[in-house]
Amino acid sequence: MLDKVLIANRGEIALRILRACKELGIRTVAVHSKADRELMHVRLADEAVCIGPASSAQSYLNIPALISAAEVTDSSAIHPGYGFLSENADFAEQVERSGFTFIGPRAETIRLMGDKVSAIESMKKAGVPTVPGSDGPLGDDEGEIVATARRIGYPVIIKAAAGGGGRGMRVVHTEAHLISAVTVTRTEAHSAFGDGTVYMEKFLEKPRHVEVQVLADGQGNAIHLFDRDCSLQRRHQKVLEEAPAPGLDPAARAEVFEACREACITIGYRGAGTFEFLYEDGQFFFIEMNTRVQVEHPVTEMVTGVDIVREQLRIASGLPLSIRQEDVKLAGHAFECRINAEDARTFLPSPGKVTLYHPPGGLGVRMDSHVYTGYTVPPYYDSLIGKLITWGVDRDTALTRMRNALDELLVEGIKTNIDLHKDLVRDGYFQQGGVNIHYLEKKLEL
Ligand code: ADP
Repeated sequence: MLDKVLIANRGEIALRILRACKELGIRTVAVHSKADRELMHVRLADEAVCIGPASSAQSYLNIPALISAAEVTDSSAIHPGYGFLSENADFAEQVERSGFTFIGPRAETIRLMGDKVSAIESMKKAGVPTVPGSDGPLGDDEGEIVATARRIGYPVIIKAAAGGGGRGMRVVHTEAHLISAVTVTRTEAHSAFGDGTVYMEKFLEKPRHVEVQVLADGQGNAIHLFDRDCSLQRRHQKVLEEAPAPGLDPAARAEVFEACREACITIGYRGAGTFEFLYEDGQFFFIEMNTRVQVEHPVTEMVTGVDIVREQLRIASGLPLSIRQEDVKLAGHAFECRINAEDARTFLPSPGKVTLYHPPGGLGVRMDSHVYTGYTVPPYYDSLIGKLITWGVDRDTALTRMRNALDELLVEGIKTNIDLHKDLVRDGYFQQGGVNIHYLEKKLEL
């Protein structure tokens, strides 16, 4: 087992990783910016190193500072968490080259999946269903671009190969707008991501966002941990997630699980990962793969009993997966509400001092948060202050527990989106299950 892990992240996920390390008897190093001295995991870690000023660029994204911190503390591995450098192939490479274990896939895998065109290409080859689209990147021949769109059928979406965070995409409804849309997306992609490569996909009008969690040990073993539905989104940011995804076609679902598992073996995947799909009319369409632990991983943990971060640590230690596919059993249903420090109306971040924090409790209630009474939410980072997760034997029970837990949760002194969640878990359509990715934004417009 790894001996000492440096946690290259902050907030709730840093605390989540620290807890998993403690359970496995692994020593921990917290790294933090000058603005983050008061973080809960910094207090609890065996060692803490300040890596720079408040700005992320000079701290959590500062590769030389992170590697020096690993050196001075004699750490054996680095866990990147999510966000920040977690999907940066250069970082993974430098970590390994400096003699530390990167807790995640190999740098080549991160690079392959970071380019959406190569990711789709490798998934097609591995037998994972993808969105009907161009065969690789679009070339310069306008006649060919027009022919491709006609073959796919309008509406189509032009996407940047290097895009991320919901940026670098443009929907085209008619041929008259096609070429200009391709040109503009190319120019934007070039200036935003330093890579003007674009490709074309069929634009699905009412899809759901369904994703499949996988674990692979890089030694030929891979398992899937079923699915999550993350359709409730605002500006491509997930707000509330659940596992399993309700009401999907059982045959298509079983097939996609197996395809994901096999794809992991084909590409030699190592670690935890997520295959993201759009789901429409009983069919799955792969859009991208995330090569890291995700914010919403707890809902899967609640319905499978598998500790995903623990498995990441074991895999990075060179151990084979501790569970076989036939031993993974789906039990009950789970929801996760992302609690953000933000204004309910404008969605602008609301940093400041938390004057009272009271997490809910009881059977099937889990609160993953770094917040405590007296903690000050700094203005420099993501506004996520915690995740409230509930489990129940069935969807209704889990949802009732979420309603009650949200009523118990108290966060005072700053603005939060707790009221939005209280409203969502009482929404009639959401209660039925299966709303599409536009549902939340439409509801917010009303
Ligand atoms: P990013 O890496 O920026 O998150 P994705 O490829 O995951 O980009 O797409 C982000 C979101 O854009 C999807 O969740 C979906 O809402 C929308 N989207 C992407 N591709 C399509 C498509 N072919 N049809 C409809 N919506 C799409």
